[in-house]
Amino acid sequence: MGTKIIPVITTRKSLSKKKRSLEILARLKRLYPDATCSLNYSTPVQLLVATILSAQCTDERVNKVTPALFGKFPDAQSLAIADLVELESLVRSTGFYRNKAKNIQAACRMIVTEFNSVVPNQMEQLLKLPGVARKTANVVLAHAYGINAGVTVDTHVKRLCQRLGLTEAKDPVRIEQDLMGLLPQSDWENWSIRLIYHGRAICKARSPVCVACELADLCPVANKPMVVG
Ligand code: SF4
Repeated sequence: MGTKIIPVITTRKSLSKKKRSLEILARLKRLYPDATCSLNYSTPVQLLVATILSAQCTDERVNKVTPALFGKFPDAQSLAIADLVELESLVRSTGFYRNKAKNIQAACRMIVTEFNSVVPNQMEQLLKLPGVARKTANVVLAHAYGINAGVTVDTHVKRLCQRLGLTEAKDPVRIEQDLMGLLPQSDWENWSIRLIYHGRAICKARSPVCVACELADLCPVANKPMVVG
């Protein structure tokens, strides 16, 4: 009797997390070659302010608000001494406007008094600014200074990385740590930007379009019923 050959079936979903994440990265680069930060800004301060405003709000909405805001208050000095009520009214439509206006002003005051009116380019210093957590700091470092200090984890990145089985964590800081271990540092920020594009276009929160998804063969939950949190 001959030796029985047992076929080894390998699907792409069975690749290691690291291999899958690198393949996903390569495909995202092909799918969204021109992906870039969709917030409009001209200076690091304006990027910082726009990113603070983008919390719980779409970039599209923020881009509608910032022309008038930056027209009146273009820099840290003017934002630091702005009338708070006027500031609130300018950012009102982005939601949580009182808190956002207060944080923007407090951050700009600190930039003026402690950082010589220049947005710092180090994570530890950025995290001292009111209203700035790692997500905002990562965006500012990457897009204002070209520094990949971490992986930006917003609601899209969180959802997609969980669905793609790249992290089991729920906390953004833990998710970021997981992703930093899987991806080359030079790709940390462009990963997030492209994943955000994919989240908006295909892997939507309530109704992911798995049939049209070019990551489906790498995704453990492709075409399965989704539990939406
Ligand atoms: S296959 Fe479906 S769940 Fe997986 S990444 Fe694509 S759209 Fe999202």
